[in-house]
Amino acid sequence: MGKIYNVGIIGGGVSGVIAALQFDKYGIDSILFEQESSVVNGPPFCHLHAGGNLYPDISDEQCKLLMKQSIEMARLFPQSIDQRPTFISVPKSEKIEVENIENRLEMLVEYYKELINEDPANEILGAPDSYYKLYSKEDLIALEKQPTVKWPKSSDEWMLNTVKLIDYEKLKTPVILVQEYGWNLFRFGAQAQLALKKSEKCNLKIDTLVTNVNDVRDQNLAYNWEICTNDTVFKVKYLVNSCGFRTGILDESLHLNVNRLIEFKAAYVSKWQPIAGLIPELVFHGERGTPQGMAQLTPYCDDHYQIHGMTMDITLFDNGLIKLNGSEAHPEFDADIQQKLQCGWNEDEVKQRTENAIDFIAKFVPTFKTAKVAGPPLFGAQQIPGDDPSLRVGEVSFPSKFYARSEIVKASSALTVANQILHKTQEEGIIPAISFKSDPNLLLDSIPKNEIDKLASDFAVQRGYPVALSQLVIERN
Ligand SMILES: Cc1cc2nc3c(=O)[nH]c(=O)nc-3n(C[C@H](O)[C@H](O)[C@H](O)COP(=O)(O)OP(=O)(O)OC[C@H]3O[C@@H](n4cnc5c(N)ncnc54)[C@H](O)[C@@H]3O)c2cc1C
Repeated sequence: MGKIYNVGIIGGGVSGVIAALQFDKYGIDSILFEQESSVVNGPPFCHLHAGGNLYPDISDEQCKLLMKQSIEMARLFPQSIDQRPTFISVPKSEKIEVENIENRLEMLVEYYKELINEDPANEILGAPDSYYKLYSKEDLIALEKQPTVKWPKSSDEWMLNTVKLIDYEKLKTPVILVQEYGWNLFRFGAQAQLALKKSEKCNLKIDTLVTNVNDVRDQNLAYNWEICTNDTVFKVKYLVNSCGFRTGILDESLHLNVNRLIEFKAAYVSKWQPIAGLIPELVFHGERGTPQGMAQLTPYCDDHYQIHGMTMDITLFDNGLIKLNGSEAHPEFDADIQQKLQCGWNEDEVKQRTENAIDFIAKFVPTFKTAKVAGPPLFGAQQIPGDDPSLRVGEVSFPSKFYARSEIVKASSALTVANQILHKTQEEGIIPAISFKSDPNLLLDSIPKNEIDKLASDFAVQRGYPVALSQLVIERN
């Protein structure tokens, strides 16, 4: 009889790899299936939402959870965290009140202090009192007169570089600088894949599509599921569905009916002229889905910038958000989006949407008009559990025995989900009682920086992106 694994995980995105790494940490064997040739190749991520400040409309509770989860993930993957802050502003044309954002930031400072009190190693966003800083119009005028700083360190240095480039007359004041950092998906994927390949407990199967799962829970066997690939059947006791927006395919085959949304989105890759000093990520708030949707400019190395624009001709798509109704568990996108997901984009559309994105940013950063297309978009589809598209902290559900379905909305929720699954496997008697430790993950920590640099750069090239996208703007030791 073939080996029986304690846990079978389908999907090697953020959620699946973190689950496998957590099981490894506690000495529990697992098998992880990813259909592509490397892990973490699904929808992109670039922002560590350590406070939810990109979302003026979410609850304080979601902001706190995003901060806590982001800190946990950043502690595990420091080599993927770009320690540059985020500039947050509200255009004068928008209804959002800066005062509401300020009140929330104050609440977040107190919460950050609590997290540091619980564990001093949580202080990864700098000192709590420097978590954010507000700048009035007078402050901006004064900073604009100071010389640019090539490698800014203080909030004021970041802000003075910014103020020389933006048209701040279009913005409400105060504007904000907050310690929400960048999060590099290529580096994250590289560290995770290197660790999983080294793991003695996880059998990582890349290039392996799961074609079917047989439910044998009522057959009184030593295992509960058969996971079928093209040529082999694997036996597992506990099944984790981490298929991202495709979780519904497995649900459908198990006759589980689930309420969820799926959404396709894209961000664009551009190259700008060299500028004299580094800038933070720039965020100009706006109502999602309208022509004034939020604009987000994310700096990378070597004058590369990623752009999101929450309008229908940039990041969002007609028919890009699908609600699930009736008995189907896995909704399908229209032919145009399916084509993008399966075969990539046509060049004209890459050019058109990237140029739309560049023009959109140039409304607030006039010299950005000269930026050029520098690669294919970063794109993908994600799931949102339930029917509220503004939800930012999806987690996990356990729709039937020995089965977990990961439902993360933000990459930062993956560790929380993995720990919930660990608890559930214990509760259901799959694994013995373990005492949960908050120690660092020794396997991840054992991966040297030079190996992460190399594999992250290979990932970028293999996926058709500039190598610069795999590097941090602020190099870490
Ligand atoms: C444009 C965009 C920008 C985003 N920006 C951010 C951000 O800045 N910060 C943030 O935190 N989050 C961001 N997100 C959200 C984030 O990308 C997702 O939450 C996260 O990637 C989801 O991870 P996952 O592991 O659940 O799913 P996925 O990454 O989709 O992983 C699922 C995996 O399962 C595999 N798979 C599916 N079916 C099978 C099968 N049958 N057999 C084998 N393998 C299979 C797939 O190939 C895939 O690799 C963004 C999303 C988008 C679309």
